Amino acid sequence: MSTSLIQGTLTGVSRDIAWSVLPAKPKSRLRLSSICAAANCPHKGKLWPSWFRILSPVQFEGRVYCDAQCFQPEVEERIRRLQASFVNAKPKPSRMPVGLLLLQRGLVTADQLREALRRQREAGKGKIGYWLRELGLVDEGNLTSALAQQFGCPTFPLERLASPLQLENLLPLTLLESICAVPAYAGSDTGALYLAFGDRVDRSALFAIEQMLGRQTIGCIAKESMVHELLEQYRRSTSRGEIHFESMREPVEMTRTIYNYARELKSQRIALINTRNYIWARLHREGSSRDLLFRMMR
Ligand SMILES: [Zn+2]
Repeated sequence: MSTSLIQGTLTGVSRDIAWSVLPAKPKSRLRLSSICAAANCPHKGKLWPSWFRILSPVQFEGRVYCDAQCFQPEVEERIRRLQASFVNAKPKPSRMPVGLLLLQRGLVTADQLREALRRQREAGKGKIGYWLRELGLVDEGNLTSALAQQFGCPTFPLERLASPLQLENLLPLTLLESICAVPAYAGSDTGALYLAFGDRVDRSALFAIEQMLGRQTIGCIAKESMVHELLEQYRRSTSRGEIHFESMREPVEMTRTIYNYARELKSQRIALINTRNYIWARLHREGSSRDLLFRMMR
């Protein structure tokens, strides 16, 4: 074994994980089988001091694995399950169309709505809200309220926000762009996070973000132009910390990539979840994190 490898494991992830997970007496003859969560751990039965020198444990979803050999099958299996959920995604629940909501509110007439629908049909693109605005029949505020009613959530006045929330260590910009949303308000480090969507509330993304951040995440609707404006501000002011992979879809390759980054970043904990478009891995280390996003095809 090379000296650099020994030094690397002694100063890196091994030590951090070992000390955070192991009991106070590291020199006790503790067996690795009591630590590694992998069912077929090949290191079971080995005494821990030798493992301390040669292995690089990683914590995945609350369980510790002693090295890549133990970690990869578990993560690979998880990735396969996440990928299957993209294929088996249930159809979205039907909602009252925005046009009808506006009609119900007396903001457009039946003739105006018919005209907007005709334009939409002829163009073969664009949401009905877009065509109603093109015809000058509703303003963005009306449309935002109707969307909020459609999704049963509050509106958020992003235009009154004094300064946008810091994205660093909160959410990856690539993910926000894919769901057309921005973080609108967060009470404190652990308080609820309000996520403002510009065109539709993505419940699966809300759920994923809530799980990943471990804090309540509440969806709301804001003016779409404001969401785009804030995303643009983030693009200009925030360095994109996440790494995204547009075409890597093989679980084996994805797992190896996650493991390699985890080792390079000396990550202590890894979480993995899917959103509508991505499998999202977050590698944690001492109050900071690094995100990996793997785009999935629908
Ligand atoms: Zn193991």
